[in-house]
Amino acid sequence: MSISQTEFVVAPAPVVSVAVRGSLARFPVRRVYCVGRNYAEHTREMGHDPDRELPFFFQKNPDNLVLDNGDFPYPSMTSNVHHEVEMVVALGMGGSDISVDKALDHVYGYALGLDMTRRDLQNEAKKTGRPWEIGKAFEHSAPMTDIVTVDKVGHLAKGAIWLKVNGEVKQQGDLDQLIWNVPEIIAHLSTIFELKAGDLIMTGTPAGVGAVKRGDVMDGFCEGIGSILVKVV
Ligand code: MN
Repeated sequence: MSISQTEFVVAPAPVVSVAVRGSLARFPVRRVYCVGRNYAEHTREMGHDPDRELPFFFQKNPDNLVLDNGDFPYPSMTSNVHHEVEMVVALGMGGSDISVDKALDHVYGYALGLDMTRRDLQNEAKKTGRPWEIGKAFEHSAPMTDIVTVDKVGHLAKGAIWLKVNGEVKQQGDLDQLIWNVPEIIAHLSTIFELKAGDLIMTGTPAGVGAVKRGDVMDGFCEGIGSILVKVV
């Protein structure tokens, strides 16, 4: 029996894919990695010392992505959902033990995303030493834009990143404030996991995270990428 005739006992999940600006072809998503505490001011607002802590990683699921300008449905089990605006790196090539000076060769493009967080559940998980999935990896927890390719925009190492809620600026930073920059993130992550084409990395959020409620409009921006507009429904 050939591969094309493989039968599955239940319907397989569809491949999650992100639009690519200026192309009809889409970017297939394999994994979604997220960097924790990668801007000093945000690290302080979460009650930690940026000088003493190395950044760390957690994951969301590919099917947590909200694509193609979709809305963010207010999730279950929470009364404190926070916005975290983040630049997203899309890998076009994988590897293990990638060196810092070769890391950018692995980047296909960049996007802007929201690491939506059930903060009350995350805080409870931190307190009890439990995993973070309940706070981070829930349905619709990762709205993101289309991908702007390196061909078009080059590599993004500086430039404004901000988020407004209902027109009011809440988060504001610059990509040059990343504690670990993109090459360092890729290099370090590739020592922990084998990276592959199709992986996305959310690079961390600047200070000013806060709660949203139904009806709010989140309006994010990053230089080189453009805007994301997401309504909480
Ligand atoms: Mn985050």
